[in-house]
Formats: sequence, C-alpha cells, structure tokens
Amino acid sequence: MTTTHVKNADWMIAWNEGESRHEYLRGADLVFTDDRLTFVAHGYRGPADREIDGRGRMVMPGLVNIHSHPASEPFNRGLMEERGSPRLGMSSLYEYMLLVRPDEDARRAAALFAVSELLKSGVTTFTDYSAARAGWLEDLAASGIRACLAPSYRSARWFTRNGHRVEYEWNEAAGREAMSAALEIVDSAVKHNSGRLFGMLAPAQIDTCTEELLLASAESAKARNAPVQIHASQSVVEFREMTARHGKTPIQWLADIGFLYDGAIIAHCIFVDEHSWIRWPYKGDLERMAASGASVAHCPNIFARRGILLEDFGKYRRLGINIGLGTDTFPHNFIDEMRWATVLCKVSAESVEATSLGDVFHAATVGGAKALRRDDIGRLAVGCKADLSLVDLTHPSLQPVRDPLKSLVFSGLERAITDVFVDGRQVVADGAVTTIDVEAAVRELTRGQAKALEGTSSADYAHRIATEIFPMTLPMRN
Ligand SMILES: [Zn+2]
Repeated sequence: MTTTHVKNADWMIAWNEGESRHEYLRGADLVFTDDRLTFVAHGYRGPADREIDGRGRMVMPGLVNIHSHPASEPFNRGLMEERGSPRLGMSSLYEYMLLVRPDEDARRAAALFAVSELLKSGVTTFTDYSAARAGWLEDLAASGIRACLAPSYRSARWFTRNGHRVEYEWNEAAGREAMSAALEIVDSAVKHNSGRLFGMLAPAQIDTCTEELLLASAESAKARNAPVQIHASQSVVEFREMTARHGKTPIQWLADIGFLYDGAIIAHCIFVDEHSWIRWPYKGDLERMAASGASVAHCPNIFARRGILLEDFGKYRRLGINIGLGTDTFPHNFIDEMRWATVLCKVSAESVEATSLGDVFHAATVGGAKALRRDDIGRLAVGCKADLSLVDLTHPSLQPVRDPLKSLVFSGLERAITDVFVDGRQVVADGAVTTIDVEAAVRELTRGQAKALEGTSSADYAHRIATEIFPMTLPMRN
C-alpha cells in the first residue's frame, strides 16, 4: 500500500454528493492510498509515503472524454481543419475523411500521441472509438490512461462518386461478424489485468447499421452493463437519408426501434428536428432524448470548423439530457474543447446566459462518467478512483487567479496542468508524459501521414492529388 498526501492545496474542486455538484475548497488536503481517494477535506493528520506541497496548486478531478478517434484523427492535422463539402451539408465525412488511410504501425503511434495530448490536458478516462487495431489493449494499458474501448462496426459503408450524392454499400453479414469480434474485445478489456480498461458497444453510424444490428448492440450492452454509442444526427445528409428511409427523424427512429435508453450515447445529436438548417415540420427530438435518459457526446470543435453548431447546449441541459464531452478531432486537448463548448453555446444561443463554465465542467467530469455508467470517476470524493490533476496556479497565463477554473479554461489552457494521476499512478510529471515515448510516436505519425497522402488520388472520386484536395494556407513561393 502506498499513500500520497497533497497537503494544503490552495484550491481544490471537491464533489458534494448530497448536492450533486462540484465545489471549490481552499487550503484542503487530498489523500489517496493506491488507486482510491481516502481523504478530501481540511486537516489530514494521518501517515503518508509521499507528500506533495499543495501551495500554489489546484487539485482537479480527472476529466472524462466520451468520444475520440485517436488512431485516425492525428493524421488530419494540417489537412482537414478547413475542409468540408458545401454540397453535403458542410460535412467532411463523405468526400474527405476517407482519403487519408494510414498504415497499421502509424495508427498505433497516432493513438499513443493522442493519448499523450489527452493526459497533458488532464483527461484520465477516455473513449477510444476506433476500428480494432493490433496491440490495442496492451498499448492503452501501458499508456497509463483509463480507457473505454469502443471497437466500431457497421453493416454498410458510405461513398460518393461525385461529391454531391452519398451512396451506401451494404454487407450485413460482415457487420454481424465485426460485432462478434468487437464483443470479444470489450469482454477482454474488462478482464485486463491493468484494471483500467473497459468497453462499450459501438455500432458506427445510424445510417450504416441495420435495425437488427442496432438492437443486438443494445441487448449486448445491457447484458454487460456497458454503454452503447452511435454517431447520429451528425449531418444534414444523414438526417435527409433517415427521413427518406423511414419518414422519421434519426432520433425519432432510434426511439421507436427501442435503441434510446439510459445506457445509450448519441454522438453528436446536432441535427435534431429543431435545428435551424433542418426545418423539419414536427418537433420532439430533444424531449425524446430527455425522456429516454440517453446521453449526448458533445464535440463542438470539429463541427465549428465547418460552420456547424449544436444549437444551445443549455437547452439540452435544461431539458435534463445528460451531456458528456469528447474530442472528436485533434488537438486532443480537452481544456480547449471545454472552451469551445462554453463559448459556442453562448454564440449559437445568442445569450451569455445560455450556459456556464460550471455546466461545461459538470459535463466534462460527472456527465461523462454517467454516460460511461460509472460513479467512481470524474469527481474527488472518498472511495472514488485516484484520477486527478494538479494545476500550477503560479503560471503567468493564469494570473490573477481569482477563479482558477476560469483562469484555466479561458486563459491558460493545458499549459498550467503539471501533474496527472490515474488510478493513483503518476502519468504526467512537471508537464511531461512519463508513460509514452512521445518523440517516437511523432516520428511515426509524420511518416504515416506523408505515406498516406501519396494515396489520395486513387481514393478520391475525382483523382485529385493531396495538394489539390488539401491546399496550403498560403501559396508556396517557387
Ligand atoms: Zn466521431
């Protein structure tokens, strides 16, 4: 047994179970023995093997990321930031995202690089929503993070022959087989001896899965008390496709087939019936979401880059919909994502009061934990996991520190996060990740992107080369 004592922290964000809220504490002590918190209050007098001086620091609960694609998104840096298809609802899904296909070694390295970014931004639990890859469990276990593996599968793939129409190629048997393989991964994650891996069911997208596959996914999730997560209401194209198929909105169809329940997570739930780009004549999607207890995985950054907003996160919260945050894209900087979530909600609702940083912090911690069906993470309370970070409140970018969360999210970002612990084990020390060879991962990521870009013309319907598809920000001088 090893006991660590963070002594006399200037600030602490402690969980008040009775009030179901985070609260600031001043001059408090935090103690953990092995993987569990044993003291979160003033005046610890017991023994400790390691003492950390809390003066000039804030102790913050580990952040919970419920949606990310770490094995693919890092490759899109320098390419996709300003890429979307105006003729396909501004989305990048159908014309561009399929064009960069890195090899297996590069995907592994990208995932580790993404995890290093997540850890440095205070994320202690994340959801890895990816196609299965070699070494997946071992890589994540060795990284030190707490990970929910979401091996994705589907019955169809989408493609476009012309950049303005999306078509689907179906193979239902392949979908069922991939789901069986995914179940094996989910089951082996829970049994992994690291104790930090678990899993969810991940039927990839509402428009690429049969009703049968979705219902089998929900049943398998319920049998394991695991979440199930699907991309839905994520694009105009998908909304139109689902209404053409069923005469119902995506959320309405999911509710009617029995897929919406309190273990379901909907990523991204943007294009609901009342979204201003949709103009569907009937309303009720958000009420359906609230009644079902399903959660939303909210990832504002990637959509905002394409001019797309979830319109009023605050309204979702007021209706009682549980919301967690995710980094659907790079950078895997969760504090940055929290800033986007806070600001964009105010912009889309045209009101400074539409939401607050407190609401967003709730989503980034206990909202995400609830979506993942866990009550032992995302909060600092006795008995919970020792997943936490230390923020350097003396960092110049935070000054003056009247309200440390505001200083961190609106001004300092992840720069001030110096130390991160997962399961009581330190994984970031003095701002550096101790569990991942980040330089090696960057080398492999860079090699993998360069190689993948050689293949864009064969993957693209118009046979464009990379520099045509992804133009540089400024012209190149010869
Ligand atoms: Zn996604």
